[in-house]
Amino acid sequence: MRVIDAAALLLFAMAVRRSAPLGWLVRAGHRTTLWCAAVILACTGSVIAAGAGPGPRCVMIENCSIFDPVSETMHARRTIVIQGERIAAVVPPAPQPGLPEDATRIDGTGRYALPGLIDAHVHLVHVLDLAGVPGDEVLPLYLAAGITSVRSAGDHIVAATLVARLAAACPASSPRVFICSPLLDAEPPIHPNVGRAITDPDHVPAVLDELQAWSPTTIKIYAGTGRAVGRAIIQESHRRGLPVAAHLGIYTAQDAVADGVDSLEHIWSVFNYIIPPDVAGQPGHRGQLDLTNPLCESLVAELVRQQVYVNPTLVVFRNMILLPDEPAARDHVDNTYVPRRLREFWPLYLQRTNCPQGGSLADRQREFAKYQELTGKLYRAGVPLLVGTDAPEPQVTPGFALHQELELLVASGLPPAAALRAATLHNATVLRQQDQLGSIAAGKLADIVLLSANPLEDIRHTRHIELVIRGGQVCRPSELLHPASP
Ligand SMILES: [Zn+2]
Repeated sequence: MRVIDAAALLLFAMAVRRSAPLGWLVRAGHRTTLWCAAVILACTGSVIAAGAGPGPRCVMIENCSIFDPVSETMHARRTIVIQGERIAAVVPPAPQPGLPEDATRIDGTGRYALPGLIDAHVHLVHVLDLAGVPGDEVLPLYLAAGITSVRSAGDHIVAATLVARLAAACPASSPRVFICSPLLDAEPPIHPNVGRAITDPDHVPAVLDELQAWSPTTIKIYAGTGRAVGRAIIQESHRRGLPVAAHLGIYTAQDAVADGVDSLEHIWSVFNYIIPPDVAGQPGHRGQLDLTNPLCESLVAELVRQQVYVNPTLVVFRNMILLPDEPAARDHVDNTYVPRRLREFWPLYLQRTNCPQGGSLADRQREFAKYQELTGKLYRAGVPLLVGTDAPEPQVTPGFALHQELELLVASGLPPAAALRAATLHNATVLRQQDQLGSIAAGKLADIVLLSANPLEDIRHTRHIELVIRGGQVCRPSELLHPASP
């Protein structure tokens, strides 16, 4: 057996050793898991081969503008020096002594460098498994769209771990993947393929013991969970140093915030808890809600006081839940990038989930406008926002949907610089990766997107991507995007 094969098999064996035997995976139909194992076998060989070369590569992007998410400004005329996978220095554009003669030099004149974008709400198993698409097929879409890291927001943890290991083994075509627990839910879980029931707060420590073996970066509370179990999940996760994200249902936002939740996923996790009881029964009330009502004002004030992150994921509400029949969602050019099996599955999944929800088209449009109004209000009040998409839910294209989300955030009242700060620094911070990711600074990982137009002038310029650097590795979108697979 070749050394490469042995190493790859060892990797795969490590992947499955703590959970279930391979036979179980086969019987359970975890195609994602098995596909990933196969691709890890292929990728491990190329990574080992690449590692045989001389010392770390040096790349310089000379004389570009750099977006600083801390000050929310663009600094002109800088040179970024990358050594290996990290940023060695950010300096004025003058000849730099001591650099290797064979450094790759990239002319950044007239170009704009952003920290690598992060999608703070994706699924790399959920929905894909139902459509028969393994997670590896969508990974290049993220990198091509300038997204160098993704935060999973709840998945089958064995399959998600394998997707993450595949992404780590194939950095030239994959973002960094930060995995999450399954959706911790009531019995039966709303999504049985990626959910996990916890019916008693006393069971929480044992479940977290088991999940921690997979090193998730986020613990996720889902809609069926009530306060007793939810509070136990938050307390026990915090005791272990893990942040908790919540898609709320039974557990109210007021209670979850009082109990210390770290992030509220989807604008629903705020909106559904600011409707006064006396208007809740009125037809069309969601689209006419007065956002200055006392319930809303007090919850917003508490979110500010506790600095709870809110991840609106407006794009999934527009493209899937409220307005999937609108051309902006149904016919968006971004949809053409996804594998055909997923594209053909989306209408079936829309039916299965009773979308669109919310009455007449005019009612649904008013409701979506309210979600945007609330998002703008949260921003102006000082609630830290995240930028996530919920890809690959119907018509939420992995990778490119983040640019749609940025556009929706700006249309909701965020300045482009604030939306970009959220998509870089805030998203890195909620992952507790702010020392490694989220800005372009010496010592951080070299995750950079180089644009040919200034995104502070028009947020749609984030789509003008010349190249993407992931851990010092230069990638070009045109080489990552292939005609959609069958
Ligand atoms: Zn989700």
